[in-house]
Amino acid sequence: MWQAEVRVDLDAIRENVTRLRAGTGAELMAVVKADGYGHGMLPAARAALDAGADWLGVCTLDEALELRRAGITVPVLAWLLSPGLPLHEGVAAGVDLGAASLPQLHEMVEAARVAGRAAHLHLKIDTGLSRGGATVADWPRLLEAAAKAQADGLVEVVGVWSHFVYADSPGHPTTDRQLAVFREGLGMVEQAGLRPRYRHLANSAATLTRPDTHFDLVRPGLAIYGLSPVTGERYGLRPAMSARARVMLTKRVPADSGVSYGHTYTTQRDANLAVVPLGYADGVPRHASNVGPVQLAGARRTISGRVCMDQFVLDCGDDPVAAGEVATLFGPGTDGEPTADDWAEAVGTINYEIVTRFGGTRVPRVYD
Ligand code: PLP
Repeated sequence: MWQAEVRVDLDAIRENVTRLRAGTGAELMAVVKADGYGHGMLPAARAALDAGADWLGVCTLDEALELRRAGITVPVLAWLLSPGLPLHEGVAAGVDLGAASLPQLHEMVEAARVAGRAAHLHLKIDTGLSRGGATVADWPRLLEAAAKAQADGLVEVVGVWSHFVYADSPGHPTTDRQLAVFREGLGMVEQAGLRPRYRHLANSAATLTRPDTHFDLVRPGLAIYGLSPVTGERYGLRPAMSARARVMLTKRVPADSGVSYGHTYTTQRDANLAVVPLGYADGVPRHASNVGPVQLAGARRTISGRVCMDQFVLDCGDDPVAAGEVATLFGPGTDGEPTADDWAEAVGTINYEIVTRFGGTRVPRVYD
C-alpha cells in the first residue's frame, strides 16, 4: 500500500516525442536535465529514445556521465560547465560539450589532450538572452580559436546553437531578432571555415510554433513531458506526471477552528478536515498555502492553511471523506483533477517548476 506517489506515464513521453518528431524535418534532442524535469532522467531518456529521439540534452557533466554509465550511447550534449571540471571524462565518454567563451574553449582543448581524443563542441552564440553564449562581439575570436583547435585535431565543431528569450510568446518580435542574429552568426561560422553539422535553436515553444527555427536539430524539454510552454495552448500533448497521496486521517472540527501553522485559515462552519501527507519537502510549494487545488472525494478543494514540510490540510465541509482516500494534486486533467498548469497559475509560477519540484524527493516515483 502506498502513502504518496508521483506517477510517470512513460507512454505519454513516447507519444509526445513521436508527435514532436513528426512535426519537424530536423533531428530531435530530448532535454532530460534536472532529473528529466522531475520525471526521472534515465526513464525519461529511455522513453524518448524509444520514440525516436536522436540526441539527449543535459546541463551538467555529471548528468551526461550518468547517462553514459547507464549504457546510453546516443549523442549527448552538456552545456552548463563551470571552470575546473574534469571535462576530459566527458570527452573520453564521448559527451559533446557546449562552449560559450574562450576560457571554456581552452579548457575543452586541454581536456581533449588529456583524453587523447578530439572534443566534440557546440559553439553557443548569445543572440539576446544574455545568459550562456558568446556575444556577437566575442564571436569572431571564439570562432578563430575553435577553427585553429579543429585544424590541430583537438576539437571537432559539431554544432552552433543559441537559446530563445520569448519563444513561449508566439509572435514576439525578439524571436525574429534572435533568429536574425543567429543567421548572422552562422555566416561568420562559414567565413571562419567551420562547417558544423548541427545548427540548433528551438526549445519546445519554437519546436511547436516556429518551423523556421528548426534548422538541423530541435531541443524540446517541457513538451516531451506533455506540458505546454504557451499558456492556454495544449498542442495535443499528454502530461506524463501525476502527484497524489492517501489521506492520513480525517476529523470533524467546530466552526472557528484555526488550521495549520499560523492559523492562516479558519473554518467557517463545522467541517470535515482531511490531512494529506505531502508537504514542501515533497515538492508542494509553500506558496500553495490557501491556494493549491486538490481533487478529493469527487470534488476540487483548496489547501486550507499553510503547507507544512510533510503535510497539508483540506477543509472538506460536510462532504464525507475517509482516511485512505486518494487526494490528487495534479495529473493530466482527464478525470477532473487539477493539472500542473492549474498549480502553476495558483502558485504564481510556471508548469516547469511544478513538475521539477516533485522529482528526487522521498516520494516514490512509479512508472506506468
Ligand atoms: N535548450 C536549452 C539550452 C535549455 O536551457 C532548455 C531548457 O531550459 C531547453 C533547450 C528546453 O527548453 P524547453 O523545456 O522550454 O523546451
